[in-house]
Amino acid sequence: MKHDKELEDILGKENVKYNEPMKMHTSFKVGGNADRFLIIDSKEKLTKVLNLDLKNIYIIGNGTNILVRDKGIRGTVIKYVAKNYEINDNIIKVEAGMPNALLSKPILENSIEGLEFAFGIPGTIGGAIVMNAGAFGREMKDVVVSTTYIDLDTKKTETINNLEHEFRYRESIFSKKHAVILETMLKLEKGNREEIKKKIEEYREKRINTQPLDVPSAGSTFKRGEGYITAKLIDKSGLKGFTIGGAKVSEKHAGFIVNAKNAKAEDIINLIEYVKQKVYEKFGKHIEEEIKIIGE
Ligand SMILES: Cc1cc2nc3c(=O)[nH]c(=O)nc-3n(C[C@H](O)[C@H](O)[C@H](O)COP(=O)(O)OP(=O)(O)OC[C@H]3O[C@@H](n4cnc5c(N)ncnc54)[C@H](O)[C@@H]3O)c2cc1C
Repeated sequence: MKHDKELEDILGKENVKYNEPMKMHTSFKVGGNADRFLIIDSKEKLTKVLNLDLKNIYIIGNGTNILVRDKGIRGTVIKYVAKNYEINDNIIKVEAGMPNALLSKPILENSIEGLEFAFGIPGTIGGAIVMNAGAFGREMKDVVVSTTYIDLDTKKTETINNLEHEFRYRESIFSKKHAVILETMLKLEKGNREEIKKKIEEYREKRINTQPLDVPSAGSTFKRGEGYITAKLIDKSGLKGFTIGGAKVSEKHAGFIVNAKNAKAEDIINLIEYVKQKVYEKFGKHIEEEIKIIGE
């Protein structure tokens, strides 16, 4: 492909992959190949890569909220893994590639509270901003001060404040903007280390008890509805355990579609459509997916 050699010079050969199976980079463990796959670990390298003006770029974090179709992705996938951070009192500046879970250690060491909800969400800080990820009554919207990103259309680096993120339920301005999030600043509170630890453990146990964490998925497949809990409607439609190909509605949590046995993306998409149709027939509600379906 165009610019392969330059990319290998900037990133090192081991960080430029061709025909890369996306099933290796998504928590669903499905998806065809990406034409080209880049692992980029710094803003400087990212800037050099973007200067090459590659066409059809798609950014991923940890791939825990995406479903890649079976024919894969025509173009270049960038996995941005920069994960430096700085803690000043209760303010944390963190690069977008930082996995939420890894941030728990320094945050706990500094007795900082307010991000406990996020440590069990298996993505990165970048993915959490895009999705306004949340759990246990809190969302990223509650803790973000600002985010710096490169707009892929204008190539400009911009910084926006909390309101400018246009955070909504599992959405933000980045849901429609073609951008790479570089870093974000979070404002938390000083707290009591033992209490923070207890809360993290309590949330971890709640997840283990209620979610099918032993099978590949992308978390809740569907968004919560206005005034109803989507998983409950799916359960009441008798769909727990319903299977199409290798895809299944989890018996443990009806809101999760899981890759039970070598599912194809097509199985999962067909099951999503089936669940939507059944819920509509029974309750008259149009449920909507939370996961992002990409590729061809
Ligand atoms: C077992 C399980 C439990 C889950 N529980 C929760 C939960 O409790 N709450 C919740 O909200 N979600 C949950 N999720 C879903 C998922 O983990 C979150 O949406 C997470 O924030 C996605 O982060 P990611 O890094 O994996 O992003 P990806 O899946 O890689 O990407 C998601 C979106 O963000 C974009 N993106 C990622 N990084 C960047 C970047 N640096 N710049 C620009 N765009 C970027 C991608 O283009 C894509 O549009 C769960 C998933 C699983 C598998």
